[in-house]
Amino acid sequence: MNELIVGIDLGTTNSELSVLRDGKVEVLPIHGNPIMPSCVGLDPSGKLIVGQAARNQLVAAPEHTVLSIKRKMGEDAKVRLGEQEFSPEEVSSFILRELKQEAERQLGQPVRKAVITVPAFFNERQRKATQAAGDLAGLEVVRIINEPTAAALAYGAGVTEGETMLVYDLGGGTFDVSVVVMEQGVVEVKASHGDTHLGGDDFDQLLVDHAVKEFKRQHSVELTPDVRTLRRLQVVMERAKRILSDEPFVNVREEYLDGQHHLEMELTRDDYERLILPLLEKTLTCVHQSLADAKLSPRDIHKVMLVGGATRTPLVHRLLQERLRLDPRFEINPDLIVAMGAAIQAGVIAGEKRHSILVDITPHTYSTTALSFRRGLEEIVCVPIIPRNTPLPASKSEIVFTLYDNQAQVKVEAYQGEGDLPDQNIFIGDFLVEGLSRVPSGNPIIIHFDLDLNGLLKVTATEKATGLAKSITLDTHGQHVINLDEARRNIATLVGPYGPDAAEGTPELATDLLAEEEIEQPVADTQQLLNTAKDLRKRGEVLLQKTVSAEDAQEIRELIHQSATAIKDGDWPALAARNDSLSDVLFYLED
Ligand code: ADP
Ligand code: MG
Repeated sequence: MNELIVGIDLGTTNSELSVLRDGKVEVLPIHGNPIMPSCVGLDPSGKLIVGQAARNQLVAAPEHTVLSIKRKMGEDAKVRLGEQEFSPEEVSSFILRELKQEAERQLGQPVRKAVITVPAFFNERQRKATQAAGDLAGLEVVRIINEPTAAALAYGAGVTEGETMLVYDLGGGTFDVSVVVMEQGVVEVKASHGDTHLGGDDFDQLLVDHAVKEFKRQHSVELTPDVRTLRRLQVVMERAKRILSDEPFVNVREEYLDGQHHLEMELTRDDYERLILPLLEKTLTCVHQSLADAKLSPRDIHKVMLVGGATRTPLVHRLLQERLRLDPRFEINPDLIVAMGAAIQAGVIAGEKRHSILVDITPHTYSTTALSFRRGLEEIVCVPIIPRNTPLPASKSEIVFTLYDNQAQVKVEAYQGEGDLPDQNIFIGDFLVEGLSRVPSGNPIIIHFDLDLNGLLKVTATEKATGLAKSITLDTHGQHVINLDEARRNIATLVGPYGPDAAEGTPELATDLLAEEEIEQPVADTQQLLNTAKDLRKRGEVLLQKTVSAEDAQEIRELIHQSATAIKDGDWPALAARNDSLSDVLFYLED
């Protein structure tokens, strides 16, 4: 039986969960719904609530509810939830933990691994933060894939002929566009562009601003922008926005908005479109940029795939048609397609036989720094090693030289971004190479960058003359922006001491028989099997301490091992068989 890995679309506004089973993609309902709001809150008793329940109290308990945490991922920020503060990673872990538990409930077996999608434009820090959130939720993030890539993968599962597609993904908080080529089941991303701070939330904000002005005009009252009023406005304007996708106008009414007056206004689709046009123009600029990067023109695009809830806005379709002569289509549900792609990738990793293969690219340039004497100026500049749009995994080197005679050490830095200068880019990490040969200046140092499929970077510096002996590796993979142990302690107040799920420090632990304590509400039969297995193992271990023949000891160890493997694989029939065998052996020996 293949290992079970779920696919998760961890969205700014909504999250979705999917799994590939027997070659078929299944979207798993979360609390009975295919879509779960990415909303976290505390109920009046202080208990953690996630999803629709939290979303429902957005207006009533704004201080106890957190929304759109994804926008803060990778930032050194804290959000307040009741009396306590949490990092974006911690808040996201609550969402992932809920998804993990829902998946376990649906599938009747432990879920420990996931493929999680992120916007293609997420930088290193944001990707690491996502991985940390998975860790805290007790999920090993086996792969991070880009959302548009996942969408293409889900779409690609249904086509055979070669085609070039544009994936236009406009969600709640982010916009992403990618040029994707399909050839005989191979999905290749040619170029990717986007804006991590542009989405449906911004449309809501424009409408909120508009409503505040309108309220002032009608009642000569300046609305105090307290959290509660703001949330009320956001909720009512978001609803109005969605209605405008289907209707030419909408009547907005919110009673006693300031305690005295009602907000009452009619909003036409034309008014709304005028408000959001500048933002949609920005998305078109990104589309042009990604086409230019892929060296294509709009005429080369066979299909435009619309992804994300905000693409239901009719103006999006119209602009793509009018400005680019592109004819967009929804072929798969735009809310679910990303999670479905993640599940397909998860299935491939777990060993399910599929024909789609993913060739991803990096949307960013990765550079090291060096002193430059350009324009008669001495300045530190970024030297690109892996240019953006390079297929992944990427492995490239550049040579830099020492500046001084007998220079014994050199600092190697890694940056991400398109700027020429370090301060225009994102700093990823640095390290010192010490003990260089005492030679005149100009000693060549090879800087090698390895960028893996998760978009994580490994940097190696080697002194050319002495070879490997002087090589040091900077592996950003394992480093998290936050301290995981501290985070575990911080979330323990809400998810139990170190959390029933987050308890798992290392993936190896997953193979331990006792790991079933992780599952909160497993299917009754499974729980029974796991309990029996645990008891049998204890009895087996007691016997191993005593005098049993080498042959019997071998057999007991073998069976305990096989039963641990069965648990790890979630192979319950196999576990039942091992339980029976072990029970027989123990019965005979204990006698
Ligand atoms: P994310 O991937 O960021 O979680 P989604 O793809 O779920 O986001 O999209 C959420 C956004 O889509 C929200 O801003 C929501 O208001 C918007 N949205 C959902 N349905 C509609 C609709 N019918 N018309 C316009 N916008 C919509
Ligand atoms: Mg999305």
